[in-house]
Amino acid sequence: MMHARFPMNRIALGVSLLLGAASAAVAGVTDQDLLNAGVKDTKSVLTWGIDYQGTRYSPLKQINADTIKDLVPAWTFSYGDEKQRGQEAQPLVYNGKIFVTASYSRIYAVDAKTGKKLWVYEHRLPDGILPCCDVINRGAALYGDLVIYSTLDAQLVALNQETGKVVWREKMDNYKDGYSNSAAPIVVKGLVITGVSGGEFGVVGRVDARDALTGKLVWTRPVIEGHMGYTFKDGQKTEAGLTGETGKTWPGDLWKTGGGATWLGGYYDPETDSVLIGTGNPAPWNAHTRPGDNLYSTSSLAINPANGDIKWHYQNTPNDGWDFDGVNEMVSFDLKKDGKTVKAIGKADRNGFFYVLDRTNGKLISATPFVTKQTWATGVDLKTGRPIETGVRPGDPSKSADGKKGETVFSAPSFLGGKNWMPMAYNKDTGLFYVPANEWGMDIWNEPITYKKGAAYLGAGFNIKPLYDDYIGALRAIDPATGKIVWEYKNYSPLWGGVLTTAGNLVFTGTPEGFLKAFDAKTGKELWSYQTGSGVVGCPVTWEMDGEQYIAVPSGWGGAVPLWGGEVAKRISYLTQGGSLWVFKLHKS
Ligand code: CA
Repeated sequence: MMHARFPMNRIALGVSLLLGAASAAVAGVTDQDLLNAGVKDTKSVLTWGIDYQGTRYSPLKQINADTIKDLVPAWTFSYGDEKQRGQEAQPLVYNGKIFVTASYSRIYAVDAKTGKKLWVYEHRLPDGILPCCDVINRGAALYGDLVIYSTLDAQLVALNQETGKVVWREKMDNYKDGYSNSAAPIVVKGLVITGVSGGEFGVVGRVDARDALTGKLVWTRPVIEGHMGYTFKDGQKTEAGLTGETGKTWPGDLWKTGGGATWLGGYYDPETDSVLIGTGNPAPWNAHTRPGDNLYSTSSLAINPANGDIKWHYQNTPNDGWDFDGVNEMVSFDLKKDGKTVKAIGKADRNGFFYVLDRTNGKLISATPFVTKQTWATGVDLKTGRPIETGVRPGDPSKSADGKKGETVFSAPSFLGGKNWMPMAYNKDTGLFYVPANEWGMDIWNEPITYKKGAAYLGAGFNIKPLYDDYIGALRAIDPATGKIVWEYKNYSPLWGGVLTTAGNLVFTGTPEGFLKAFDAKTGKELWSYQTGSGVVGCPVTWEMDGEQYIAVPSGWGGAVPLWGGEVAKRISYLTQGGSLWVFKLHKS
């Protein structure tokens, strides 16, 4: 069995550490390979986001708007057994193998040509794990001869790419306190960089960097104001300065359990040498308990990968009262506007605004709605960078007659967001972002809450509702220079899968109804679709092998919507689960 028991594991650990370090210098995935990932190297898929910047763009064009009618399955691979639930992963492709993570902290290596299973590692999960939003995993990282991924009991596991044997395994934090992890790590200059999940349990979000070959901690940076960062060297723990200023934007001791979970991980921009990562909601959800901006929750951060210092921050939702987690991806791109080129990032936030920031300093360039309804703000002040709030917030329970429930308000977007975790793509040929958006709102109210370790820490109740009868999901092409929506594709169910775009003038994404779909990148015309047997909520990728272009995507309905979606979940309760990897290529006649 792959569930290696401890004694066996420790022996393997000592031996493979040496082998891993030695072989990585001569073979395997290097820092230079990771810099080339995506645009320069089309034979592999080496990192979360396809390239470091997270554009999810491929220059490949054998599969294009003209040839896509001939796109057919090459093979399909079933994850097997009764463990289904949401399959939200982005596969990686390297050296003839596909590495794909699956629900319940599993990872498979599959022969990219044939779909033959090479190995599986099933992480042994303890009872009592506390993942907020299904037992999903979003993907792995490659470095040297290792494949590294995080688990629902908040561990980080590095396996040998050939054998699937554990090389190192490190505990990130205590799952009993509410920590978990499901994001794909990234590797930057030999450091594996991760966040943590658990914002609904009052954990404190942070970013950790470890030596990718050994798993040893190098630095840790909490993202809630008032906490101390640390660096580690030769067994020495050294203070690396406070995050912000204790007590400045948080009342009392609430910063100690302040949330800001970094649960979606981040990307890296080599041009500014920054790890770009978003932070989740401040805890608890009931904002009346914590007057102030509550830095650096619901924010966009640029972090120095050498030491964890926060280079700049931009807070998308100050004093968040709606669970508008600001974790969504910050995708680096060159903004062409008014005859100038600006090093920018695009971010489609849960709160319904599409932000363009200057990635050299975090300065706001524009913020435009990408959903049809926003009850909480009418816009964002470009001078101050702050939202122009309407005042529509759930009421303070301490001011209610019985002190138990504040006034209920209807808020849009819902806390599942104008866009949730599912990554958008940026196509440099069209200059457009492709955003998997959703149209929904919620009844939300606040309740009194006190912190208890390992217990849900919300102080809120909610019911999510569709805004329209005919659709919830909307794939929207957005021009970042103007904020204008150039085209949209409407989907009955909420969109919950990642997006891929290519030089073949194509945009790919999946639907909970089970289809992988392809659209004309310029016009949005649907060109192709294929039924995979269960909902597609994973991230499509593409690569070339022996002169042929391939597309891969996981299939398996699940994630947060069936668990938390209220009336939306009821409306789509007929959707069925699954667990498989689909690979496509052009049919040769
Ligand atoms: Ca949250």
